[in-house]
Amino acid sequence: MKGRNLLMVPGPIEFEPAVLAAMAEPTTSHVAADFIEVFGQALERTRRVFLSQDGQPFVVAGSGTLAMDMAGANLVEPGDRVLVVNTGYFGDRFGALLERYGAVVAHLRAPVGSRPSLEAIEAELSREDYKLVTVTQVDTSTGVLADVAGVARLARQHGALCVVDGVCSVAGEELRMSAWGVDVAFSASQKAIGVPPGLALLVAGPRALAAFRARVTPVSNYYADWSHWLPIMEAYEARRPAYFGTPPVNLVAALNVSLGRILDEGMEERFGRHRVLAAACRAGIKALRLTQVPRADNFAAHTMTAPRYPESISAANFLSFAHEAGVILAGGLHPDIRNQYFRIGHMGPNTVGDVLATIGAVETGLARAGYRLERGVGLAAAARAAAEE
Ligand SMILES: *Cc1c(COP(=O)(O)O)cnc(C)c1O
Repeated sequence: MKGRNLLMVPGPIEFEPAVLAAMAEPTTSHVAADFIEVFGQALERTRRVFLSQDGQPFVVAGSGTLAMDMAGANLVEPGDRVLVVNTGYFGDRFGALLERYGAVVAHLRAPVGSRPSLEAIEAELSREDYKLVTVTQVDTSTGVLADVAGVARLARQHGALCVVDGVCSVAGEELRMSAWGVDVAFSASQKAIGVPPGLALLVAGPRALAAFRARVTPVSNYYADWSHWLPIMEAYEARRPAYFGTPPVNLVAALNVSLGRILDEGMEERFGRHRVLAAACRAGIKALRLTQVPRADNFAAHTMTAPRYPESISAANFLSFAHEAGVILAGGLHPDIRNQYFRIGHMGPNTVGDVLATIGAVETGLARAGYRLERGVGLAAAARAAAEE
């Protein structure tokens, strides 16, 4: 279709027609029997997509930042110590958010494009008593992938709850809440979950709910308070009507369709497909002699790629040339390097074909911006990597 662009940013992503069609179904009452069934199913499926056996899912109208807010508001009491394993912009945001609730926040940082080592995290946890350890599985500002299994293990050893910002990773990167001992993980609809923006998704494990129930101070955020939402989520899952705030009926219907497709694909297959997409994208970028923000391939995300511009290429020109070539890409987000790199999202329903189209548009954009390259080398390398993976 002429005029159609491919949306390859780290959220919102390309949505499947069946998901968009579900959004267009006539809106029903939030307590109608058919909607109760849809919401109940969506909650059950949320738990399965997070690979949680016994977690409590929350699906609430809002963006990913509301999911962060729910974790902070419900788990932090004034004076609680929190360790933020910080790999970029969203670690900074989480720290600032937690401080609003009275947390005493310590950031464990690494140079941009790197990640704190498990040894450094272990040393900090041995030095100080923390109630929470937060980690961003994929920090969308750097494309750095955290070792969530390792962080969760250390948190548990030291008696802290492990909270995972999985907004740019859940349903794309391998995340196993129960097997890894993750206490809270959350995401938003518009990333690898594959639903238009507007839903915050969070799963709280038993230890997190116990910490919530053991609070001595009230939750100081009215909308985010689990005391309000817990009975609602339990009711819908038990197929009973309930009301606290009107759920976004059409978005929940779309969510149920998308989660169904995710589970039909299978979580292991889905993780594998994201590894293929990442390998193809990175091979294409490397063949064009571009480096990337993550300092090592073994901790580069599989849901997105953050290539650095070659010297002398202007960000604004490149992004508009790529757009004219039919692919929408994202600029930089990390304040220290904002104009030095761009971001490609490849998650959710994306195919190798989408990645090839993207590498083609990157070649066109770079060439038009004045970079000398041999046309097709990125495409060939990406196709080869996808075939080999
Ligand atoms: C996008 C994102 C968020 C924020 O989500 P919004 O829906 O934009 O509020 C938080 N954390 C990470 C890692 C993200 O990628």
